[in-house]
Amino acid sequence: MKVITTINEMQNEILKHKELGMSIGFVPTMGFLHEGHLTLISKARKENDVVVVSIFVNPLQFGPKEDFSTYPRDFDRDRALAEGEKVDYLFYPSVEEMYPREPSVKVMVQERTDVLCGKSRPGHFDGVATVITKLFHIMMPTRAYFGKKDAQQVAVIDGLISDFNFPVHLIPVDIVREKDGLAKSSRNVNLLAEEREQAPIIYKSLQTAKKAIDDGEINPAVLTTMIKELITSESNGEIDYVEILSYPFLKPLEKIEGSLIIAVAVKFSKVRLIDNIMIQID
Ligand code: AMP
Repeated sequence: MKVITTINEMQNEILKHKELGMSIGFVPTMGFLHEGHLTLISKARKENDVVVVSIFVNPLQFGPKEDFSTYPRDFDRDRALAEGEKVDYLFYPSVEEMYPREPSVKVMVQERTDVLCGKSRPGHFDGVATVITKLFHIMMPTRAYFGKKDAQQVAVIDGLISDFNFPVHLIPVDIVREKDGLAKSSRNVNLLAEEREQAPIIYKSLQTAKKAIDDGEINPAVLTTMIKELITSESNGEIDYVEILSYPFLKPLEKIEGSLIIAVAVKFSKVRLIDNIMIQID
C-alpha cells in the first residue's frame, strides 16, 4: 500500500491505471477507521482492480461550534487497518494541500438539504459536495462507496453525480452496527460511559417504529412521537430531529408509503449521533 499526501502524485498514479483500463474503487473517509469503513473498503476491494481510500477531516463541512478539533484521529492505526484490507493507495492530504487558499469556487447544494442534518448543520452539505467534487476529480473513480448511515449524504451525492455528470457509480452500503445495535461511528469514542449504555435506544426506537408500521401504523406523526418518547425516556440525549421522509428525494410524507427513511439525530454531551432505517412499502 502506498501512502500519498499530494494531489499531483495521487492524480498521476490514477491516470497510469486508467490508461491501462483498470477500474478504480474509491472510499472517502475522515479516518479513525472502524468496521463500518472496513466493510466499504472490502466491498471496493472485491469489485475493482485498484482501491483508493482517502482520510481527510474536511474543515469545510464542520460548523464553527462543531467537533472539528476533537474529531478522533489516529493515522498509524488507520494505515495498519487499510493495509490489512489490501488497499492500494491511502490518500492522506493536509488541509493546506486540499485548500491552499480560500476556494474561488464552492459547490452549493440546493435540494435535499432543508431537512435532517442539513437543517441543523447549515453549510455542511456544501462542504461535503465541495470536497467530494475535488476528490472525484483527483481519483476519477469507477465506483465510489458511501455508507447508508449518512443517508442524507448518499442522497446529496446521488444528486451531485447526476447533476454534474460524474461518470461514477454510487454504491451505497448497509449500516454496520455494534452487537447492541448502536451504529458504528468514529464519534462513539467521545460518548461518556453512561451515554454509551443509553445510546442503543436510538436503534431500538427505530425498530419499534418499524414494527408499528408492519402492524399497520401509517401516520408519520404517531411514529415520530413514539420514537421521541422512547429516546427521551431511556437516555439523557437531547433529540435534534426525528423525521420520516421519502427517499432519496427527502420530501415530507403524509402517510407511510413508497420508499422512505426514518432518521434520527440525538445530541449527547460531546457527540451528536445519527441513525436511520430505510423502508420500502410496496
Ligand atoms: P466518515 O469517516 O464518518 O466520514 O465515514 C466514511 C464513510 O463510511 C461514509 O460513507 C460513511 O457513511 C461510512 N460509514 C461510517 N460509519 C458507518 C457504518 N456504521 N456503517 C456503514 N457505513 C459507515
